Amino acid sequence: MSKKKRAYVDAGATLADLDAATQRHGLATPVGINSTTGIAGLTLGGGFGWLTRKYGMTIDNLVAAEVVTADGKKLRASEQDDAELFWALRGGGGNFGVVTQFEFALHPVGPEILAGLIVFPFAQAKQVLTRYRQFATMSPEDLNVWVVLRQAPPLPFLPQNVHGKEVVVLPIFCAGKVADGQKLIEQIRAFGDPHGEPIGAQPYAEWQKAFDPLLAPGARNYWKSHNFTELSDGATDSIIEYAGKLPAPQCEIFIGHIAGAANRVTPRAMAYAHRDAKFILNVHGRWESAAQDTSCIEWSRAFFKASAPYASAGAYVNFMTEDEGNRVAAAYGSNFDRLVQIKKRYDPKNVFHFNQNIKL
Ligand SMILES: Cc1cc2nc3c(=O)[nH]c(=O)nc-3n(C[C@H](O)[C@H](O)[C@H](O)COP(=O)(O)OP(=O)(O)OC[C@H]3O[C@@H](n4cnc5c(N)ncnc54)[C@H](O)[C@@H]3O)c2cc1C
Repeated sequence: MSKKKRAYVDAGATLADLDAATQRHGLATPVGINSTTGIAGLTLGGGFGWLTRKYGMTIDNLVAAEVVTADGKKLRASEQDDAELFWALRGGGGNFGVVTQFEFALHPVGPEILAGLIVFPFAQAKQVLTRYRQFATMSPEDLNVWVVLRQAPPLPFLPQNVHGKEVVVLPIFCAGKVADGQKLIEQIRAFGDPHGEPIGAQPYAEWQKAFDPLLAPGARNYWKSHNFTELSDGATDSIIEYAGKLPAPQCEIFIGHIAGAANRVTPRAMAYAHRDAKFILNVHGRWESAAQDTSCIEWSRAFFKASAPYASAGAYVNFMTEDEGNRVAAAYGSNFDRLVQIKKRYDPKNVFHFNQNIKL
């Protein structure tokens, strides 16, 4: 950490490592919402989380990266040095070299913030999602309300007869002062008749770990993703339809609200192009046994297809599955051709191909 409010992060660090070090100084940079995620892959694909509405994506806060390229050279990439490589690293994934250190800009956050969940019955999903999308267009950038539709885990604040039933969960995070957050969330309770709501002041670094138990290693996963500029009736109807036929207890439909600072960066500024995306939807197929592979993968693909007509162009590479290699050009949209030119210059033999590969 330096006086310029910078974090210098080695590539093996997890989000938990970064948050722990920066929060000692009341600072943070936007990263993802599971503390076990690696900073390297998350950053190189884009990176979004609870601070994105206010401070942008992880790549919007990347100041420089130390990179070992395919010819064995160690470079510093920034706006001043190897600027084309720096452009490509911010969203282009692991296609251009091995990053050994990241330099991030930091912002004042917490250490105490207001966060928690409000859980609504699935029968109220239409009403809750309709009110949610209206609220989302007007809510200040300090406030983040996301949506998860899944079967209720056996959480102590939920009545026992709700455990295992479909629910609509609104995870809430306020980046500003706790007292201001308390006022901002009042309206959300009126979206429906909640089953329960554990919301309170807590350390930011603890909230960053709140969802780790739901995504512990070892499960089988099949994820797909769409961007949305708005949640239309068609989008919410397909979300509700497929949340009503979840094939396994850990499968979920997840919507991250990212409208704000990330939309104020131009699409050409760096490799990640989708600056019109206000919501990122993750079709989160997750299950335990090989016997469920077919049903869970089929559910994920069917929902992905049903919701596609309401999505905007492009996709977030960090939520694409291995079998989506033919979607890479679309994921980069108008920036793809420039990425190909940079790939030719820094990795002409495609040494770095264990990724959403930019093929020459
Ligand atoms: C539980 C979970 C929660 C998630 N939540 C979020 C979220 O909230 N927000 C979000 O934006 N994303 C989220 N993601 C997606 C996440 O950003 C991607 O899975 C990302 O690839 C994870 O990076 P990693 O370093 O942990 O993984 P790894 O498997 O180590 O790396 C993934 C890829 O990144 C590249 N890579 C990794 N390290 C380097 C390096 N040092 N140099 C060059 N290339 C490298 C390689 O191509 C590698 O194959 C989540 C993923 C999981 C599993």
